[in-house]
Amino acid sequence: MNPALNEPDSSFDLALRPADFSEFHGQTKVKEQLLVMVEAARLRGESLDHVLLCGPPGLGKTTLANLIASAVGSKLHTTSGPQIERAGDLAGILTNLQERDILFIDEIHRLHPSVEEYLYPAIEDFRLDIIIDQGPKARTIRLDLPPFTLVGATTRAGKLTAPMRSRFGIPNRLDYYTTEELEHILMRSARLLAVPMEAEGAHEIARRSRGTPRIANHLLRWARDYALVKAQNVITGAVAHAALSMRDIDESGLDEMDTRILEAVIGKFDGGPVGMGSVAVAVGEDASTLEDVHEPYLVMQGYLKRTPRGRVAMPAAYKKLGMIPPVKAQAELF
Ligand code: ADP
Repeated sequence: MNPALNEPDSSFDLALRPADFSEFHGQTKVKEQLLVMVEAARLRGESLDHVLLCGPPGLGKTTLANLIASAVGSKLHTTSGPQIERAGDLAGILTNLQERDILFIDEIHRLHPSVEEYLYPAIEDFRLDIIIDQGPKARTIRLDLPPFTLVGATTRAGKLTAPMRSRFGIPNRLDYYTTEELEHILMRSARLLAVPMEAEGAHEIARRSRGTPRIANHLLRWARDYALVKAQNVITGAVAHAALSMRDIDESGLDEMDTRILEAVIGKFDGGPVGMGSVAVAVGEDASTLEDVHEPYLVMQGYLKRTPRGRVAMPAAYKKLGMIPPVKAQAELF
């Protein structure tokens, strides 16, 4: 997996994070919907409805949670599904919330089922039932919570339980960014970092960024260092090309794991159909990482196709690996 996707946000990421909706480029539909919700809450004088953000890592879910909080002028409390181990942890977080605060739970599909049960009444009726003591002395205390907004983020909307999904309104799905959108984001980042970059330089980096702003910014950081040491400090198209080639970054943005997946589907499973679990074993990676991070991009780029019987390598995948697609793969197209 691309290391940039796994890294926690560094001070570098934070410095480049848009501070205002106007600085958040792309995802127009999601942005417009959120702005309507924010404005409606403001006009009604109520807390914002709960929001669910779905999409692969690095596309801006955490950034949007921050922007929502600043747009409604509320405090943001950040946590993640795996961090809340027990119902007591959740109670601690919820009882600290003030009216209209935003609670951001990243990876909400990874909440423990017993914690999830506690969350339902909290987000539906703003109440919390706490069980005190055990055995015959056990009692339930009901606490009223101030109206707050839950912003949930998930890389796997399909993994959310049905009751959880039903408690949010319409999910907001983030898509991979186009090369043009990433060029725009990169030019802004370069301005903030005070690195001179030509449009061709931004283009070179954008098209190799897997449609993901977090990766684009990380590649920019590398190109900046390269330009400083090897090329008069300006990121031209040629400088970006040389910098990224030095790090073996694929022309089409595929990372090492993407390529290994294609090699496995074609080399070990005869082009498919094959289940992601088997591919995961073959490449030595967690199946959920393949499904969260790699598969959506490979499908979007036309290298893989999902079929009811499993994943199938498309002609583009064979071409990518310098092979001639077999007749079978052509037939799968139609
Ligand atoms: P996610 O929570 O989906 O993994 P983040 O919100 O942490 O992604 O975004 C990763 C980084 O990418 C952020 O630090 C931010 O600088 C940048 N970023 C994401 N979306 C945008 C955007 N639309 N415009 C500018 N920068 C963005």
